[in-house]
Amino acid sequence: MQEKKECTKCGFESEENILKFSMPLCLVCATFSPKTPEKLEAYLSEKVNQESLNSFRAYAKLRGFPQKQGMVEKASNGNVMSRAPFGYNIENKKLIPAINSNEVREIFEEFLKEKISLRKLSQKHNLSVNGLKKVLRNFTYIGKVRFNKQIHNGNHEPIISTTLFNHVQNKLERLGIKKN
Ligand SMILES: [Zn+2]
Repeated sequence: MQEKKECTKCGFESEENILKFSMPLCLVCATFSPKTPEKLEAYLSEKVNQESLNSFRAYAKLRGFPQKQGMVEKASNGNVMSRAPFGYNIENKKLIPAINSNEVREIFEEFLKEKISLRKLSQKHNLSVNGLKKVLRNFTYIGKVRFNKQIHNGNHEPIISTTLFNHVQNKLERLGIKKN
């Protein structure tokens, strides 16, 4: 049988408490704990009442909170969750601009400056119309990542400027081009 460990911050006893820098922490306290031992020490010196955390505790267990938190951090670091978007490669779990990253910039510029239909532009670049719309709306190209319906700063190199991206978003909206 596993030993119940008392959370160093709130005192909650559970077999599920995890060790962080050899300090046992409950799911809730672990989720919000800092990443360096120095900061952790300060964090742990501030005690909280475990009863006050109970509503969070039920939620954390239900949602697998620590894993989710980890995924947000990964997404924010620009770590790739599935496939690299058009114009990027994945190297060592990071997004790196690919040889065709220039083509992404061309697509944005052509869409903005030229009177060309989405169909023609997509054919020109060997994409489907939906694929093209995904490219034109993809925050990855300005160095951001979307995760859990939120936009986070990524760790990867942007391919296009925020200004160009915003102009394209405005034009998409002006033309009433819906998301797929
Ligand atoms: Zn705790």
